[in-house]
Amino acid sequence: MQAFLQKYEKLLEWQGECLVWTGNRGRNYGRLKIRGVKWRVHRFVYTMVNGPIPPGICVCHSCDNPPCCNPKHLFLGTNKENSQDMVRKGRVNGPKGIRNRNARFTDEQIVEIKSKYIPHVVTAEQVGLEYGMNPAYVRYLCSRRSSR
Ligand SMILES: [Zn+2]
Repeated sequence: MQAFLQKYEKLLEWQGECLVWTGNRGRNYGRLKIRGVKWRVHRFVYTMVNGPIPPGICVCHSCDNPPCCNPKHLFLGTNKENSQDMVRKGRVNGPKGIRNRNARFTDEQIVEIKSKYIPHVVTAEQVGLEYGMNPAYVRYLCSRRSSR
């Protein structure tokens, strides 16, 4: 990290707690070329400090400052968080039952689901549709005594 700071001294600037890349940028993220490989500066710094970033994982900023590359402000975010974010923003419109098949439900919801499912009156499919739950899972839940 020290070597990095020295090498890119002219392109880095402390702004409060943030170490901001003032060099080449793309989409607000700092860009850097190391031995012919293009890096986003924050990802490069993260890798240098913490080791390789697992595939499909992104490096996020706790300071919400994209050109910042203070290793203390960088943390790993998973694809799941990303896709949940996308779901929340309405960018993913998959069939509910499939998308949420493994979604977690609170105990309250499960109790509610169990109370809604009445065999031969309200089907597991109807309950499943309402909660975005796989009908097989509704039946499975309702066949169990405990709420888990
Ligand atoms: Zn920062």
